[in-house]
Amino acid sequence: MSRTPSRRTVLQGVALAGATVTGFDPATRSWAAASPETASPGNGAPPAGPARIPRLDGTLVTDASSLTAAADDFGHIVHHRPSAVLRPGSVRDVVAMIRFCNDHRLPVAPRGQGHAAFGQAQTRGGLIIETATLAEIGDLDSGSTTVTVGAGARWSAVARATLAHGLTPPVFTDYLELSVGGTLSVGGLGGQAHRHGAQVDNVTQLRVVTGTGELVRCSPSRRPDLFHAVLAGLGQCAVIVEATVRLVPAPGTVRHYLLTYDDLDTFLEDQRLLVREARFDYVEGQVSADAGGAFRVHVLEAVAYGPPVGPEPDDTVLLRGLRHDPATVTRTDRTYYDFLDRIAPFVAELKEAGLWAYAHPWLDLMFPGRSAADLAAPLLDALTPATLGPGGVVLFYPLLRERFRTPLLRTPDDDVFHLFDILRTVPPDDSAAVDRALAANRAAYDTVLAAGGTRYPVGGMRLTRDDWRTHFGAAWPALERAKHTYDPNGILTPGQGVF
Ligand SMILES: Cc1cc2nc3c(=O)[nH]c(=O)nc-3n(C[C@H](O)[C@H](O)[C@H](O)COP(=O)(O)OP(=O)(O)OC[C@H]3O[C@@H](n4cnc5c(N)ncnc54)[C@H](O)[C@@H]3O)c2cc1C
Repeated sequence: MSRTPSRRTVLQGVALAGATVTGFDPATRSWAAASPETASPGNGAPPAGPARIPRLDGTLVTDASSLTAAADDFGHIVHHRPSAVLRPGSVRDVVAMIRFCNDHRLPVAPRGQGHAAFGQAQTRGGLIIETATLAEIGDLDSGSTTVTVGAGARWSAVARATLAHGLTPPVFTDYLELSVGGTLSVGGLGGQAHRHGAQVDNVTQLRVVTGTGELVRCSPSRRPDLFHAVLAGLGQCAVIVEATVRLVPAPGTVRHYLLTYDDLDTFLEDQRLLVREARFDYVEGQVSADAGGAFRVHVLEAVAYGPPVGPEPDDTVLLRGLRHDPATVTRTDRTYYDFLDRIAPFVAELKEAGLWAYAHPWLDLMFPGRSAADLAAPLLDALTPATLGPGGVVLFYPLLRERFRTPLLRTPDDDVFHLFDILRTVPPDDSAAVDRALAANRAAYDTVLAAGGTRYPVGGMRLTRDDWRTHFGAAWPALERAKHTYDPNGILTPGQGVF
């Protein structure tokens, strides 16, 4: 019996359906699969030639459909095909495979729910670690102040588990079907963030696997350099396998207001007033097109929590002094979970209409409060319903800088700043329109950067390493040091293009 794989069983980035990957041949940079020829020689000795894959609790696959799926994301713009996908059965698997990849200088990218817009969770020819199998939610009771969750858990599952005990993480993204590891690697923003900071500001401890395969527990007081390099660290220094997240009491119901403004300045001034006063528990906003296609319908979305967290919402108190159009106020009382999951029906419609499969060259920027109107006006003037695309959305909402304490989540230098997102859709085969959108994104970023703004690093934009250095600014040296310490061979998360 041959002890080395035949040419047929060595995978040159080629799929092998149904086979178990057992080895990696460093000479050919290819994976080898089990077959009668490559199976153990019978005396317990590993086959010579390819390096043997560590024993795994989960599975390592190289079949075509897994590789193709891992070479796509919500953006549908970038397609880098990995050579294998790990579905870990345990944290031990993540450790073992990162050590293995580090030894063989193979790139590795963790992938949560794959909702990145520009290949951030992809790698050409390396290993994708799909974290969805690491989704355990730790024990809880009504007195818990934190919950420990697997990095692959979705925020919807975390919300349901904690609400069963009357508790909630303080901040959610608008869409709940994102993974904990995915949003903690970028920041995690939502309408509650003006009160509590981003999701990364509400993490008390992490368990991570570094680029050398070391499993480490870190927190603000234990290996703080690593903790601060991982939160909003774009997967550059370690893979998050578990996060401990702060909990607060949850409201039973909330009152949800939609207030319309026809004037951009007034809309933004009222946003800033509301977050400085912390009058509401949640504040967001959107800009949409009027009947003539001009983007000047400004809708402020504000939510007040009811008992047991807040008093019964009082419209007179909550809306006092605001300068919206009083004729168009919409007010809805709903359960807290319905509110958190409010965009689920919209997402279902987008999927039904095939728009989820459209390209998403999203633009995500942060404006200093003082220049928000000046920066937004030309971008909104240039926007048309056609360039936004069907199902596209413009988000525009305020955040309070003092609540943001995570060094790698870069925020503009102003006490109030605004998140501004143009969430475009483009027909997937219209590459010229995608290129135009990416060029427009880049031009907008350059203008905003010059005015003291930043970008929220989730959208579609072509960036150089120098751009990243500029983006991280004063936080760059610590990130660079951590990269050299924790991922010295630079194998982690190349799709971000940071190093
Ligand atoms: C419909 C939609 C709505 C959104 N709404 C919001 C919102 O309201 N607020 C907001 O802040 N963002 C929002 N986002 C952006 C979203 O938070 C990011 O794109 C996030 O990274 C996606 O999570 P994911 O699990 O899909 O991550 P993936 O796309 O799988 O990964 C994103 C990045 O994180 C890295 N990563 C993933 N898991 C880990 C891990 N365990 N350890 C280390 N790095 C990891 C990946 O390698 C990659 O670089 C939205 C995106 C979409 C598509």
